[in-house]
Amino acid sequence: MTDKRPTIRQKGWFAVLIVLLLASTQVWAQWNAREEIRLPDLPGFLTLKCDFHMHTVFSDGQVWPPVRVEEAWREGLDAIAITDHIEYQPHSKDVSTDFTRSYELAAGRAKELNIILIRGAEITKGEPPGHFNALFLDDIAAVNKADYKEAVREAVRQGAFVFWNHPGWKQPGNRSVWYSQQDTLYRLGLLKGLEVVNSDTYYPEVFGWCLEKKLTVLGNSDVHAPIAMEYDVAHGQRRPITLVFAKKRDAESIREALAAGRTAVLWNGLLIGQEAFLRPLFERSIEVKTPEVRLKGKNPAYMQVYNASDVDYHLAAAGQVSGISFPDSVDLWAGRTVLLRLRASEAGLGDRKEVALPYVVRNALVKPGEGLHAELRVKVIFEE
Ligand SMILES: [Zn+2]
Ligand SMILES: [Zn+2]
Repeated sequence: MTDKRPTIRQKGWFAVLIVLLLASTQVWAQWNAREEIRLPDLPGFLTLKCDFHMHTVFSDGQVWPPVRVEEAWREGLDAIAITDHIEYQPHSKDVSTDFTRSYELAAGRAKELNIILIRGAEITKGEPPGHFNALFLDDIAAVNKADYKEAVREAVRQGAFVFWNHPGWKQPGNRSVWYSQQDTLYRLGLLKGLEVVNSDTYYPEVFGWCLEKKLTVLGNSDVHAPIAMEYDVAHGQRRPITLVFAKKRDAESIREALAAGRTAVLWNGLLIGQEAFLRPLFERSIEVKTPEVRLKGKNPAYMQVYNASDVDYHLAAAGQVSGISFPDSVDLWAGRTVLLRLRASEAGLGDRKEVALPYVVRNALVKPGEGLHAELRVKVIFEE
């Protein structure tokens, strides 16, 4: 009778095999991971992460449509719009010129991965007026009109939401110009939003126009290549996104929120939007873990502040509070709790005191160049 027990050598190979198997499942697990973007919902609204501007091989992009859905899923997005150019189709010798093909090809994957896919297109005219995205189109071919105004009018007739893309593109210093054509569309009520951020460019003056003209702020990637070729995804760089504050997680609610202007932009660690949205977004991200601190004489005490969101908030002091000194600047790092060192600045203040430390959140822009003013509240008990 032969001994069926494995030899030392066989055991060794078996171990190697197990290690390789584990390593491969590990890699597979990473390839198939979605990185959620942690941001609080607002009172009554869900915070949806969206990218409403991207291309595929069906215009001048370099990827097959379902890849856009996979990229969005991995980056934690809720909704995307594939917006291939209507008037510019350089791959027409190799792929169909049917305007709805990119949407149709991506729709199945979007359903499987629970990504909201919005049918859109980029109306592509010379400058001015330039390019416009139309979202929620029923019939893209019908928008293919030579006259920009007629094209936009047809899109809106279909119920589309239309915004102006990369407004400072090709302008010296990326400075945007509010052309008479834009003014015409705006006055006719056809133009409803502006790209405040496109790809790696932020247009501060465009943000100002949004506030002044009550237009919806948008930030989109306009990605043409695979996302990891345009952004250093492996090292944490992410595309700009539009945060949509929607009643529900569906296309119709996104349409309603866009029309109502309930959006903000997240780009490169910078939040851009109306104070009405950035204030609750910031306040709901932050938790003061020490609602009460005790200060004894000149000894410091520490306040603990936790940031539950994925945005690092950079704060600068925006005033003084009599009787207490606090840090000039505070970085509230994403997912961390930081210490704020407090000290009594005058002796003998005695009693309890509710303190609101005034700060400006430098990377939450509520106007061009102006951060959100916010307060960190704590109860300070002075001990003799
Ligand atoms: Zn464009
Ligand atoms: Zn584009």
